[in-house]
Amino acid sequence: MPTFIVLLGPPGVGKGTQAKILAETLGLPHVSSGDLFRENIKNQTELGQLAQSFMNKGELVPDDVTIGMIRARLSLPDCRQGALLDGFPRTIPQAEALERLLAEFGGRVNHVPYITADESVLIARLTGRWTCRAHGHIFHEKNNPPKIPGICDLDGSELYQRDDDKNETVVRRIQVYFTQTAPLVEYYRKQGRLSEINGAQPIDSVTADLMAALKNK
Ligand code: AMP
Repeated sequence: MPTFIVLLGPPGVGKGTQAKILAETLGLPHVSSGDLFRENIKNQTELGQLAQSFMNKGELVPDDVTIGMIRARLSLPDCRQGALLDGFPRTIPQAEALERLLAEFGGRVNHVPYITADESVLIARLTGRWTCRAHGHIFHEKNNPPKIPGICDLDGSELYQRDDDKNETVVRRIQVYFTQTAPLVEYYRKQGRLSEINGAQPIDSVTADLMAALKNK
């Protein structure tokens, strides 16, 4: 049976950082809907143009577009043993579509670690975040600074601030999370698949808690 893990939590809680570490440790592909959209924007595809208009405002890209993109990604051979999903699903219809899609592959959502932190922590994390151009590695100017300012420690590429990490958009993204994505917490809790993780800790401690929660399930 393949293993599918959904990392749930508000923007800025550290899902992307943890997903990269966990994917490597568990040997699963890291499937990030945000990274897939940014890849499409970089390559100037039609999908990228459409997604950008929503992303710049801090709104969600429509479900049908997002689900189609994830379906295509999960259909690639590297996801046969499972995947670590980061940023998808973000709405109940997306979660239902994911169940149907995984059933086609003989799988299901096995674990849902839910990483939490107070809103003030999220805003500070997002507005101080720097992302690498080449692979999306994530740094923070105070909590996790790169060795050389502006340069990714891991691949030497340029670090940039995402357009949607600016203050006004950050506030909207957090609002959108609470109205549209937070209902997924109860959705997965009822199914007994949720583990709560305190995201307001240093990176290593969050990783240790995540690994312990995954072993327990
Ligand atoms: P992220 O990198 O996960 O913070 O996502 C950045 C932006 O991409 C979000 O603010 C949305 O505009 C869009 N996005 C990412 N994932 C989804 C999703 N599952 N559904 C709709 N929009 C998404």
